[in-house]
Amino acid sequence: MKCVYCHERFYIKRGILDLFKSDKEYICNRCYKKYPLDIRIEHIQLDIYECMVVSIFKARYKIDYNYYFKEVGKIYESLINRKGYTLMFFDSVKMDDNVFEVLDGISKLNQSNLIILTYNILE
Ligand SMILES: [Zn+2]
Repeated sequence: MKCVYCHERFYIKRGILDLFKSDKEYICNRCYKKYPLDIRIEHIQLDIYECMVVSIFKARYKIDYNYYFKEVGKIYESLINRKGYTLMFFDSVKMDDNVFEVLDGISKLNQSNLIILTYNILE
């Protein structure tokens, strides 16, 4: 396979059990290490409800995040059915007082806690 970032050819080691598995991989191990997932969870107490912010990358990389769809999909699946929570997805979020105010309004409107899934939190 050819890496979408560095265009180097790479191979995936397979065992006898997954020899014929046809999952397509887009990123080589070297690029995967260069742009690693760094999942962080922050809890923010709003006026009545709470907000959980789950960020996937440590920094804002100039890469196509769509190639991480498998990883992001798993994170999304683990969060989507939490009882009492509303899940929202943003490319990136900046955590400041205005955002907290908006989140507070959304949580009151939905009458539920919030989970924000984002690729990264902007400084
Ligand atoms: Zn690569």
